[in-house]
Amino acid sequence: MNLICCDLEGVWVPEIWINVAKKTGIDELKLTTREISDYDVLMTKRLSVLDQHGLKLKDITEVIETMEPLEGAFETLNWIRERSQIIILSDTFEEFARPLMKKLNYPALLCHSLEIDPSGRISDYKLRQASQKKHAVRAFKGLNYRTVAFGDSYNDTAMLKEADDAFFFRPPDNVIKEFPQFDVTRTYDELKAKLNTFLKG
Ligand SMILES: [Mg+2]
Repeated sequence: MNLICCDLEGVWVPEIWINVAKKTGIDELKLTTREISDYDVLMTKRLSVLDQHGLKLKDITEVIETMEPLEGAFETLNWIRERSQIIILSDTFEEFARPLMKKLNYPALLCHSLEIDPSGRISDYKLRQASQKKHAVRAFKGLNYRTVAFGDSYNDTAMLKEADDAFFFRPPDNVIKEFPQFDVTRTYDELKAKLNTFLKG
């Protein structure tokens, strides 16, 4: 039995925080793991910036609702779902992903979650598990699935290494250089060709 595991942001939808930063005009929200490598430090900073600006969950999800999946994402995901099971493994939060999942016809998604206080303020975040992408793929292999994984960035590389087969989709140049063992795809047609090969193998 085959199982396809993939990333969300940069593969099917745009980067959520970067778009929230653009649309709210709050530059500090553009910080990513490239500038602050410790995810806990980064998230604590983001939540304090939201507090400073008095932004609640609803304000952020309203911004996210104006975002659209990447061009061709909806059709490609449907193409895959007609052929195989696919699970999206993301380091975003369920509350943020929800408006975008609706636009993708609700594919299976495993990610993290937020803590919301009674006023609607984001009071904290809960990582379901550290390195959850890698551990999910390992667990699926334990259930006798033959796995293929793809994603676009650093936080996908442990998952890619764990899967039986793996490749990048639109990665930045520095990631390509650092992980030359993985093939690179740039279009959904190239991605579908890779998956076709995997599914026939
Ligand atoms: Mg990504």
